[in-house]
Parts: sequence; C-alpha cells; structure tokens
Amino acid sequence: EGLTKYFKVGAGFMGVQRQTVHAVDGVDLTVRPHEVLGLVGESGCGKSTLGRLALGLLGPTSGRVMFEGRDITTLDRAGWKALRRQMQVIFQDPATSLNPRLNVGSILAEPLLIHGLATRQEAKARVAELLSEVGLRPEHARRYPHQFSGGQRQRIGIARALALRPKLVVADEPVSALDVSIQAQVLNLLMELKESFGLTYMFVAHDLSVVRHVSTRVAVMYLGKVVEVGPAAVFDSPPRHPYTEALLAAAPVADPHKVMAPPPVKGDVASPVNPPAGCRFHPRCPEAQDVCSREEPLLKQIEPEHLCACHFR
Ligand code: SF4
Ligand code: MG
Repeated sequence: EGLTKYFKVGAGFMGVQRQTVHAVDGVDLTVRPHEVLGLVGESGCGKSTLGRLALGLLGPTSGRVMFEGRDITTLDRAGWKALRRQMQVIFQDPATSLNPRLNVGSILAEPLLIHGLATRQEAKARVAELLSEVGLRPEHARRYPHQFSGGQRQRIGIARALALRPKLVVADEPVSALDVSIQAQVLNLLMELKESFGLTYMFVAHDLSVVRHVSTRVAVMYLGKVVEVGPAAVFDSPPRHPYTEALLAAAPVADPHKVMAPPPVKGDVASPVNPPAGCRFHPRCPEAQDVCSREEPLLKQIEPEHLCACHFR
C-alpha cells in the first residue's frame, strides 16, 4: 500500500552529489492467495526491490506491507521469526545463493533446525523428502553445490525455500540463469509444487512472454511504478499499455525460422535517479502527446480487473 523505496547513491563529497534512486515509487499491489502474480519489467524497474519489500528483506521508505492482515513493516524480531517461515524467496542464481561449504543435506536442514521444527534425525528424513519433492535423490544430500548442474542447483534452491512449508514464495527470475532447454523443466516443477502445497507465488521476471503463461495475473512495472495489472489473459490482446505493447513486441519469437531480430523498445530505460516528469514512459513512447510530459497518468480501471496507467487507454 503506497509502497516507496528510495536509495541514496553517490559519494556526497568533492562535488559529487548524493542522489536519490526512486526504485519503487508509490506502488499499490495485492497478491491473492494461491495465485501466481507475475511481476514484469526491464532491469532497473524496481521489480526485485518490490519483491524484497514484500518479503520484509528491505524496509520501505514509506507505505506498508500487509501479510494476512498484519503490517510486517512494524514487526519485532519474534514476530519476524514466526512470519519468516511463511514467506520465502528463490533467487535467480543458485550458484551464488547456496553456501558452497555446506553439503546439500546441511543446506536443507539448516532452516528446520534454526526454527526448531525438527531434531537432527528428523531433519535427515525431511531432507530426503524435500529432495524427492524437487526431483532429486536422497543420496544427493551428501554432495556439495558445485557438484550439480545449474538446473539441479535451482532445484536445491527451491527445496530450501520449501523446507519451512511457506505460504508465499517470491521467485526472483528463477529460470533466467538457466539453459533454455531446462527452463521449462524448472518452471513446470514450480507449478507442480504450487499445486501440491497450495503455494502463492510472486514471480519476478523480465520476459513477459514467458511470465504470462505461468501467471494468474501480471503486473508490469516501469521505473518504479506499476503501469498495468490484470489477469494474464488481458495481455493476449489490446487494449494494453504502450509500454506493455513494446515489451511484447521485443519478446523473442519462439519460431526458429523467423530469424529477423525483434524491434527493441525504443531508446534506453530512463534513469530512476531523475525519472521523467508526467508519464515516466513518455520519452520512449510511440504514442506520447504533449499532456504525457506534464501529467502523470494514474492507474485506473479500463476493464473489469484490468488497470492501466495511460492517458489514452
Ligand atoms: Fe505513452 Fe502518454 Fe500513455 Fe505514457 S500516458 S504510455 S507517454 S501515451
Ligand atoms: Mg532483479
């Protein structure tokens, strides 16, 4: 609700100005129980920051995050320990998010032991169970992260996120570091686990054409703002936000015979340090009019369940 996160950057001495990055700027967004909310945008749009705010891994500059009716931005240590179990994260690169010095058994047992949910003996059995849930074998517990392929390592990252039986999982680009050939396997696994365990996902990614296939709803972010949100099906046909149109046009085509490069979104992403006035997308928007550089378009409903922030939608 009204979620904002500003970061200070720059040295702040010898004439170098300290600057403010508007990473997330006034976002209202709901993740509904048991849905997959896809959160999409180019790098630097604030989607990962929003995911971290949702999990309480970062504190907001202003606004609040409600989880099942409780404001998590005001929780104390004990409150967090109870809640942390219910909210977990899967990172993009399992190679850097898994401790290389621990074997997989220890990596997966750690959260259970920290939360006092199992004795060492019980944790062993639970680790074997977790490994089979993600398509690995019990004997993999003795191996170390570097002894696995990228896809297997992401399965371990997923098992670790699921160890505490969370309700909400934020998956931050969970397949973008993987070979295209195994991305689908890992996506399928995530969807199977969602069904088996009644999970809710916030699925952060830059590729809208992938995300809309696994999402219940999709939110598109541009320079710290949500510019469009709606059921995945609304992204199949217009009316859509001009930025969403550009994202879809830039998506690689799955047909190997079409070798022509897709048209990219015109120009570079503007800086979140000094975001453009009015509509933040106006310097790149093919449909921009005078009003776009003066007035900020608010997120408004254009169809049932479908919100869009554009003066001309
Ligand atoms: Fe483009 Fe104007 Fe709509 Fe922004 S408000 S997306 S600049 S047409
Ligand atoms: Mg990111």
